[in-house]
Amino acid sequence: MRKLLFCFILLGAITRPALAEVNVVATLPWIGSLAKELGKDKINVTVLVKPSQDPHVIEAKPSMILAARKADIIMYDGLDLEIGYLPLILESSRNPKLMPGKTGNFDCSQFVKVIEKQTTVDRSMGDVHPLGNPHYHFSPSNVLRVADGMARLLAEADQANAGFYQANYKAFADHLREKEKTWHSLPLAGKKFIAYHKLFEYLADEFGFQFIGYMEPKPGIPPSAAHIEELIEEMKRSKPEAILVTPAYGIQEAESLSKKTGTKVVVLPQDVGSMPGTDDLFSFWDKVITSLQ
Ligand SMILES: [Zn+2]
Repeated sequence: MRKLLFCFILLGAITRPALAEVNVVATLPWIGSLAKELGKDKINVTVLVKPSQDPHVIEAKPSMILAARKADIIMYDGLDLEIGYLPLILESSRNPKLMPGKTGNFDCSQFVKVIEKQTTVDRSMGDVHPLGNPHYHFSPSNVLRVADGMARLLAEADQANAGFYQANYKAFADHLREKEKTWHSLPLAGKKFIAYHKLFEYLADEFGFQFIGYMEPKPGIPPSAAHIEELIEEMKRSKPEAILVTPAYGIQEAESLSKKTGTKVVVLPQDVGSMPGTDDLFSFWDKVITSLQ
């Protein structure tokens, strides 16, 4: 009987689906979504920030520290976007695998061609992004390079499944190249826009549209009445197509400017899952890019 029981236990161990071996913590939804594309059921992914939250103003919570304590890898946007909470989470987690310089500390921005780097890093000037614009997830080509680096990392962390991660990267890259043909056929080149915050510059570079002004005088600084008056004058001259904004950041101010100028507001998702029908990176990009037509 005991022998039989042992056999059942053994059989159970063999037939039970393999548990995911790599525990990944991602700060932002798009990073978690990309990790899932590449790792599928071979990894566990915990995302710290909700899609509805403004990523600039996140605070560390005990649940985040707990997640980091159990993680093999932490993946983050970088360029100091997470400076308000990530250093505290890493320190409090006391997880040596995640410390800076270790392979478990994965800064996605290392693969990005960073734009808007400031020559002097001085936060007293009010610019929240002195290391450069951190909102590169709007740019498919930059995320593709991050995906390549992420697949290599997963392959290194879980060598038994290295081929699986590389195959998923290839499928992701093939799908993206196919989608890019459609996106680049849309007539975005030469279009002019206003934005509340500097979120869409990587996308503008990639698709050839431009911004004639921003509601924020500097990233992170709320607009003054004088700045808005200047912007209205510029809008009269340049006639932008729309004011671009996200659900989490600046929408009321954008609507007020729209009433004064007659220029429409276009609301774009700030991250994967932040608006209906944007549940993965492809549908997120679809929504953003087709909204700009
Ligand atoms: Zn920002």
